[in-house]
Amino acid sequence: MSDHDFLPVFQPGWVWLAGAGPGDPSLLTLGVHSALGQADVIVHDALVGGEILRFARPGAVLEYAGKRGGRPSCRQADITARLIQLARQGKRVLRLKGGDPFMFGRGGEEALALSRAGIPFRVLPGVTAGIGGLAYGGVPATHREVNSAVTFLTGHDAGGAVPDNLDWDAISRGAPVLVIYMGVRHFALIAERLVAAGRPAGQPVAIITNATLPDQKVWETTIAEAGTLIEREAIGAPAMIVVGEVVRLRAELDWIGRFAQPDAALRSA
Ligand code: SAH
Repeated sequence: MSDHDFLPVFQPGWVWLAGAGPGDPSLLTLGVHSALGQADVIVHDALVGGEILRFARPGAVLEYAGKRGGRPSCRQADITARLIQLARQGKRVLRLKGGDPFMFGRGGEEALALSRAGIPFRVLPGVTAGIGGLAYGGVPATHREVNSAVTFLTGHDAGGAVPDNLDWDAISRGAPVLVIYMGVRHFALIAERLVAAGRPAGQPVAIITNATLPDQKVWETTIAEAGTLIEREAIGAPAMIVVGEVVRLRAELDWIGRFAQPDAALRSA
């Protein structure tokens, strides 16, 4: 145990708000792995798979509180009410989300509700799909001489439409690399806005679905062509879209495609 002294001890009545990473269980942090082994109840999202939940302590209760794109599912208010109820029952409650809980995951809303209810909580960050997913897709989020900034954005607002609180002109001109979550459904419209604001239509785009999982797939296209490709190939969630010149580096950096991976979980699609 002594070499694991740094791991926090899960106390009854606490909620830990944790990120499970993009899918590959080897991307779990030690803290989240340990939390899985200590929690009484694990309230998890759709993006947290069985390969991760199998680290749950035997006897832990697993509760699904997912939202699947577009379908009616648990309301956010019901999820937070449930977390508060379980904590008040004296449970060790692990709220487990895909990626990082504070990256387009509504973790902030849940943390605010816990804070306001006086429930003690801890946040355990995770590898976000916009970093880990890109790495497995062979696309560096930044590369010296290519981009000195990277912009994370969502293709959906709360109502499911393209967010109109974004300044597309500023993004088009000032954000050399865009890493887009939840973007496949509306990418054609996003592309139109980018090009209308001056972004070259031929700029490269990569689309990575099921990133870091055995069925990961990557497409390379351009801003102009991506919408048609998404429709033709029926590309669906979960997908990350990267727009920018860094995508060209994939020709040499697609390590999954280039090298046979000795672990069975990763193969080239
Ligand atoms: N908190 C999460 C994001 C939640 S929003 C994170 O930090 O990663 C859900 C979106 O995340 C999906 O629609 C998709 O755009 C992206 N995403 C999450 N996991 C993914 C994966 N394994 N592959 C591709 N995209 C993923």
